[in-house]
Amino acid sequence: MSETPVDAGEVREIRINPIVPAESVLVATARSMRPKKAEELAPRDTRKHVETCPFCRGNEHKTPPAILAWPTAADWQIRMVENLYPVLGDDRSQAGFAFGLQQTIDGYGRHEVIIDHVEHGIAIHEMAESHLAALFGVYQTRMRQLFESDPRLKYVLVFKNFGPAAGASIPHTHSQVIAMPVVPENVDAEVKNSAAHYAKHHHCIFCALIDEALTFEATIYDRASGAVRRKINVGQYVVERGEHFIAIKPFASRYEWEVHILPLTHQADFLDVPGAHFADLARVMRRTMARLDAVIGGAQYNFFLHSVPHDAQQGAHAPSYHWHLEICPRTSIPTGFELGSGLFVNTISPEQAAERLRAVEL
Ligand SMILES: [Zn+2]
Ligand SMILES: [Zn+2]
Ligand SMILES: [Zn+2]
Repeated sequence: MSETPVDAGEVREIRINPIVPAESVLVATARSMRPKKAEELAPRDTRKHVETCPFCRGNEHKTPPAILAWPTAADWQIRMVENLYPVLGDDRSQAGFAFGLQQTIDGYGRHEVIIDHVEHGIAIHEMAESHLAALFGVYQTRMRQLFESDPRLKYVLVFKNFGPAAGASIPHTHSQVIAMPVVPENVDAEVKNSAAHYAKHHHCIFCALIDEALTFEATIYDRASGAVRRKINVGQYVVERGEHFIAIKPFASRYEWEVHILPLTHQADFLDVPGAHFADLARVMRRTMARLDAVIGGAQYNFFLHSVPHDAQQGAHAPSYHWHLEICPRTSIPTGFELGSGLFVNTISPEQAAERLRAVEL
């Protein structure tokens, strides 16, 4: 007789990411996989105002001048400034040196910081939905301005880091905007694979995944005998649903608590979100973050926006690409196996994770 009880719902399988098949995940919920080292929780700084913080009100002179402020410059609740330590900048234009196999592209671009909220340590799920809607509006406005300012810019990445392991260097709540002359590789992989899917099946793969997530049940029959072969409760991947947006737990999630938010109807470009829809996006976002906070409170995380690149193929990719927001909490440290193989190991089944997130009473 075994002394260690075996989990009834134990999963051990390699799941192929339907969008990017090369990015597959080993879902292994067995006990033996558990000793993946847990990432530390970010120390929660709940202070509203910190005298020495350059992002707090009253210290505006410690940052570069504001690019954008909402609702007004004097009474700002959201403020956008240039990054003091940009990874890309337009101040120096160097010739790209190329030697042999070493190809470079001029590091031209913009790197800016959005101070998400006037309150120093406020968490996303604590912000008013009207504030979050305004924040999404700021993301969109700045994205549009940047694309219009320079045709060399092909991609504007909006992202947020929370916690030191997630890359946040300043504790005051903030997001970042990087405009670049190249399309990031992971976005490129999504764009190309979804275009290939479209060419073959004539529909957007993201829309198909949403439809699947919204179908409560799928039954697979054996073609020959007509017997039920497998019954899948697919509604199990929905974490939160709004009027225009949905939060789902991807079937092949790289991170244990990863959640994606997508528009329910097809839309390739974040710039096309009507202003009137931001309230619903804010609601889905706030409720999703509140669920995550209740289950894995204090976890470090990143979120980022993936939208259709503004390159020569933009029009061609409009029917096949679907913009989305990926929320990736960091609850464990990647192992040598993961870094060496590129195969992520997820030790909590996405079905169970979604169930726990849904069970949170809000
Ligand atoms: Zn601050
Ligand atoms: Zn779509
Ligand atoms: Zn993506």
